[in-house]
Amino acid sequence: MSFYSNVSDANSFSWSNFWKHYFFFFYFSGLYQIIIFTSGIAGGTGLRQSIYMSFLWLIPVLLLPHYSKIISGLTGLILWTSSLMTMGYLALYGQDFSQSVLFIMFESNLSESSEFLESYFSWWMLPALFVYTLIPVFIWKNTRPIYTSTKMRTVLILSICFIVGWPLLNSLAVKKSTLDDALSKQMNRMEPAAPWHLVMGYKKYKTTLAEIEKHLLANEHLPPLENLYDKNAKTSNTLVLVIGESTNRQRMSLYGYNRDTTPQLKNIQDELLIFDNVYAPRPYTIETLEQVLTFADQKNPNLYLEKPTLINLMKQAGYKTYWITNQQTQTKRNTMLTTFSKQADEQIYLNNNRMQDSAQYDEVVIKPFEKILSNSEQKKFIVIHLLGTHRKYHYRYPENYSVFNGTTDSPEWLSENQAEEYNDYDNAIRYNDYVVETLIRKLKDNKDNGLLTYFSDHGEEVYDDPERLFAGRNEAAPTSSMYTVPFIIWRSDSWKKSNKLAESRKIINRAYSTSDFIYTWSDLAGINFKEFDSSRSIINPLFSQHPIWIGNPDKPKTLRDLQKQPFADQKLSSHSVSKKIEPQKFQSHTSNGV
Ligand SMILES: [Zn+2]
Repeated sequence: MSFYSNVSDANSFSWSNFWKHYFFFFYFSGLYQIIIFTSGIAGGTGLRQSIYMSFLWLIPVLLLPHYSKIISGLTGLILWTSSLMTMGYLALYGQDFSQSVLFIMFESNLSESSEFLESYFSWWMLPALFVYTLIPVFIWKNTRPIYTSTKMRTVLILSICFIVGWPLLNSLAVKKSTLDDALSKQMNRMEPAAPWHLVMGYKKYKTTLAEIEKHLLANEHLPPLENLYDKNAKTSNTLVLVIGESTNRQRMSLYGYNRDTTPQLKNIQDELLIFDNVYAPRPYTIETLEQVLTFADQKNPNLYLEKPTLINLMKQAGYKTYWITNQQTQTKRNTMLTTFSKQADEQIYLNNNRMQDSAQYDEVVIKPFEKILSNSEQKKFIVIHLLGTHRKYHYRYPENYSVFNGTTDSPEWLSENQAEEYNDYDNAIRYNDYVVETLIRKLKDNKDNGLLTYFSDHGEEVYDDPERLFAGRNEAAPTSSMYTVPFIIWRSDSWKKSNKLAESRKIINRAYSTSDFIYTWSDLAGINFKEFDSSRSIINPLFSQHPIWIGNPDKPKTLRDLQKQPFADQKLSSHSVSKKIEPQKFQSHTSNGV
């Protein structure tokens, strides 16, 4: 009896066994998509697609029933591994995984990403990972080979091909699309399911990158800016642009923060123009710099491909251009940053480490900077890209800059661990202060005729809000800390004499987005051209108030104008800043009226 039933069991088709297999494969995309859908992070499309696409893995199991255990086990292993990334991202950030996550990950490269992981990791993730893994193991152990008749097998496999391949079939047969369009439709539909989120995401990332590179190469053949005129063409000039990283001005004593995080810049504050109402358009390096260094902005995010960049502009004006970076551009890897840097005449990549070890402090930029200063060219444009106060903060400064320690003067709302990170961030800012001030001093001591501008690509929140303790950046839940950036200008005496500016008190409170930086920079440099828009230069007498857009320009409806909707949490920020936003709002209304 038992022998007979076993044989029948093994040879007759069982739907419940079929669905067990299906559920095993579905689990790796489905659980994630169910969480995404039920928590309202995204709609149901991803869930629907993963329901369809998970059938695909049944085909080999149906075809080779003798090996079904090993086939489903290996497939499951692949799905499990690749699903960890989406699950992990969801657990860490509470956001849906997308191609742009890969983009940002590859851009910030792996060791930086692993630092991110380290700082977002919390203890409950380990037991969660254990349970997450145990469930499919249990289902898998309970599956049996799917034995069935040839006819039934054929029907099942054809049905699955139809379900999985429907986007392709539909595009080709019904909508008469081209094969390329149909394939991309198929890929888009498969993307929500593991492991396609990684495969397609990576493919898209590579495609985008290749396209950008192509454009940047083509960029060399772009028509130059029309009617370019450099009023400082006859003098020898050194113009320096220092781009910081993840520094929130509200944590700088230069901007009124209670801890003395910027003593050196404060020392020379009379020599500086300190703008106190400047915002980054986006809280991510690449997305911001794509606008800062080009004519692109939140309303025209793709112009960075279609028009000359800041580097092109300076080259056209006859400057020899340099790019010094302490950001990781491992072995001149093809990243967005690298492609921008490659537009310069010379690159100095200082951070080729695989790991961000402690030796990689920003002071490494000083030596090459001095060397370039000693070069004999008449006109130099030097971009210095710092690692600034990027996470993890305690990797950003040497031991002797560990000034803020313990919980004595850190906010009382912080736990011990949070206070440590809070202190690390302030220490990193204090070290950054030293680096920026040193660069200014070197330029000054060299008696160059010129200027130095420093701002940070974006801010960073480091437990600034007692109501909502958070460290990092999240475009979906923006706070002022993520967007308020320092913006300072130092000018040599000789430069000031030949390049007069409006009275500083009239310009330093202007609300400004760094997405318009190219106008301010060319104005500072004394370079004019046909498309120059004086109303977008923060130093120009004809400046007028434009919206301060933040948000993702790919979702135009989500863009938010900080002039109309200032940050609710800005009252928590340094006093000087919170006071300034009010008159600014008022000013913008009156200037509209006039
Ligand atoms: Zn950044």
